[in-house]
Amino acid sequence: MIKIQNFINGKFENPISDEWIDNYCPSDGEVYGQIPNSSKQDVENAYNAAIEAFPSWSKSTLEARSRILIKISELLETNLLRFAEAESKNNGKPISLAKAIDIPRAASNFRFFGNAITQFASESHESIGQNAINYTLRQPIGVVGCISPWNLPLYLFTWKIAPAIAAGNCVVAKPSEVTPMTAYLLGDILKEAGLPKGVLNIVHGLGSTAGQAIIEHPNIKAISFTGGTSTGAHIAKVAAPMFKKLSLELGGKNPNIIFADCDYDDMLETTVRSSFANQGQICLCGSRIFVEASIYERFKIDFIGKVKQLKIGHPSESSTDIGALVSKPHLEKVLSYIDIAKDEGGKILCGGNRVTLKDYENGYYLEPTVIEVKTNDCSVNQEEIFGPVVTIMPFETEDDVLEMANKVKYGLSATIWTNNLKRTMRMSNKLQAGIVWINTWMLRDLRTPFGGIKVSGVGREGGFEALRFFTESKNVCIKY
Ligand code: NAD
Repeated sequence: MIKIQNFINGKFENPISDEWIDNYCPSDGEVYGQIPNSSKQDVENAYNAAIEAFPSWSKSTLEARSRILIKISELLETNLLRFAEAESKNNGKPISLAKAIDIPRAASNFRFFGNAITQFASESHESIGQNAINYTLRQPIGVVGCISPWNLPLYLFTWKIAPAIAAGNCVVAKPSEVTPMTAYLLGDILKEAGLPKGVLNIVHGLGSTAGQAIIEHPNIKAISFTGGTSTGAHIAKVAAPMFKKLSLELGGKNPNIIFADCDYDDMLETTVRSSFANQGQICLCGSRIFVEASIYERFKIDFIGKVKQLKIGHPSESSTDIGALVSKPHLEKVLSYIDIAKDEGGKILCGGNRVTLKDYENGYYLEPTVIEVKTNDCSVNQEEIFGPVVTIMPFETEDDVLEMANKVKYGLSATIWTNNLKRTMRMSNKLQAGIVWINTWMLRDLRTPFGGIKVSGVGREGGFEALRFFTESKNVCIKY
């Protein structure tokens, strides 16, 4: 049984209460680890370590910070297999995905921000005719809180932590209690890379206790959060009266819009991925597929054919396409949406059932599921399911599909498949989403702004946006 510990002030520690939470392995449903059930006191200790480290870390040279971040990145690459195996076991995702995406991206996050901080600059404004010059200081905020979800555990944890420390802040961070393993393993790497103690403190535990203690802490001045929309709303409510800086990356219900003039084979292959990668548990998955009526029947046959070929299997097998869902409650939630779809007149074109794998009968496996819906107003087209479930429906005109794409409370991402340049320009202007992909999906450049509109979030991560979030700008005006 693996016993995970908090990482506070450069040391691994048990929770003060000595209370622990069981951690499940999604592929077989067994408890295989325990994580600290951290309390307010543990968060206070993490805060104290962070505030003590802050004066020195915030004054460290950019070169020194950059060197450490890049060293962390290199150590993650050296330990890729160990981290990928831990991520796959803890989350249920195929090992191939953890090896190709999750851990390399976590390493890239550190490398990217290790380099970006050396290029981060501020403006100056000469006030012509007033004999004055203004310049902007971008100063680290102090101690900041970073809270992340379970779907891309180390990938999203490091997407926050790396810019926060690169900008000179000290951090109290909490990974999801469902997938704490790789954040725990990161502690060793932080030590080996020479990150000074207290700069990054990792507290494990429940959102309602450890997470709540971070967001309520009067001296943790900024919160960067990725997770569900309702948790984001709660955090905003708690943080607003304390005037904390907030970055909220929340849920999505993203349209995937397919026109008849697209590159069909490329679209088909990518649409299978954008529907079911990571068991559909990516906030950017295109869970509402709209297909131009003239190719709808052809698409339906071809898409279902491809989806049926996906191999559901144990996450550790290299041939597995679809691993286990992250937890039993999540599996039950996703299954409940399939029932709702049936009640509302949706037609299950394939999948829809829990899968029992030989030798892993208690694992949380589910068939990739395609539901044909009659209207965009149904619950499965309006609510985030966050599992291997997509809906499809035909559309007639560009205006019709735009209206349906936008008629949802979320606004994270959208994908369009077309070779018509003018349509691309028209639609990307009008789509209500923070990210629009044309003829691709999840192609990421870490310099670009990342985030959603409407209930998908507030603020942007990525590139200099993240470094701006993790700094306060101060204008200095000099009269001469
Ligand atoms: P969640 O909101 O349940 O939990 C996310 C994190 O918040 C966890 O670490 C949890 O412990 C913590 N938390 C819960 N209650 C808290 C509280 N009161 N105070 C402080 N922290 C608290 O989300 P989840 O189920 O882990 O993740 C799935 C959700 O994340 C989906 O809605 C998905 O769309 C979203 N997501 C969004 C993005 C994005 O970039 N927009 C990326 C990935 C996932």
